[in-house]
Amino acid sequence: MNKLMQLLAVITLIISANANASWFGSDDKPAAKQDNKVYSLKLAETWPSNFPIFGDTTKNFKQLAESMSNGRLKIRIDSKNKHKSALGIFDFVKSGQYDLGHSGSYYWKGKDINTLFFTSMPFGMTTSEQHAWFEYGGGQQLMDKVYAKHGMKSIIGGSTGNQMGGWFQKEINSIEDLQGLKMRIPGFAGEIMAEVGAKPTNVPAGELYTALDRGTIDALEWVGPSLDLRMGFHKVAPYYYTGWHEPGTELQFLINLKKYNSLPADLQSILTAAMKLSAYQMYVQSEHESAKNWSTMKKDFPNIKVKTFPKSVFDALKIANEKLLAELAAKNPLSKEIIQSQASYLKKARAWSAISDQAYLNSQSK
Ligand code: CA
Repeated sequence: MNKLMQLLAVITLIISANANASWFGSDDKPAAKQDNKVYSLKLAETWPSNFPIFGDTTKNFKQLAESMSNGRLKIRIDSKNKHKSALGIFDFVKSGQYDLGHSGSYYWKGKDINTLFFTSMPFGMTTSEQHAWFEYGGGQQLMDKVYAKHGMKSIIGGSTGNQMGGWFQKEINSIEDLQGLKMRIPGFAGEIMAEVGAKPTNVPAGELYTALDRGTIDALEWVGPSLDLRMGFHKVAPYYYTGWHEPGTELQFLINLKKYNSLPADLQSILTAAMKLSAYQMYVQSEHESAKNWSTMKKDFPNIKVKTFPKSVFDALKIANEKLLAELAAKNPLSKEIIQSQASYLKKARAWSAISDQAYLNSQSK
């Protein structure tokens, strides 16, 4: 017991000495000098160098964090070309090899199924509804709970806005038209498509155009006009379907918690504020680029046919979605908690969207 008390006394002494040095300065190290310490952080992103919009987001974040901290934060961004592992971001930040990451939460569902829910869910919330859920509906707390298990924190990293359902070679008039349809559609939406009889196919980004052109695949989804234009899919497929599977795709910033906790409180705030502000910039940039690029696509290819799946197809997809969500909820209590939180928030938020934005847009349509 005496030894334990001695040990506690020593620990208390060390902690108070550290606290003294960190927070109040000491005679030989004035507080002002402490405040000027430069913290260098390394960020790994999933995207290749100079990838538009997503890559602009990390550059905006760096610029904001460095200027708001008056140079006390220094951020180095490594793109995929440098670290060579687009889907290694989770492990990089978890292990501390990188302090920060920029990627998409749903890429990590094989590592932890509960990371799936924080990007965008089929038939789920739009960007504005989901942002409200993150900030005021308990979304951030649930995300904290999931990532704390891995020694990380996740902050919103920018929305693409509503993603298009994708480019199709043939029109989809009934669920029969989806039978055996070879489509590049990754993630949970791909599982739903498989459930109703389609054949989700994984094709590397660089080979998608040729695969669609040559009929190796019948359809694909990518993002929306903001990033689809440069891929050229509109030159090889006539039907552009409206979205259902990623209604508000939010990227994510990842922070190594140990590193985060070692930073002074003001720099922690600056870091998260810079993340949220660059996420906002990405959302408005996505909206801007989509509007601009859609206008170009329509002008250059006036025969693009914009279509929406018929109700019977949506009904079948929704049944498959509910079935798969129920399976996830039954397997994992935290999955169940997140699915229920999203479902109840969506119900409330959508009732408001229906009489606000939706009613307004409907009243203005010709
Ligand atoms: Ca997509």
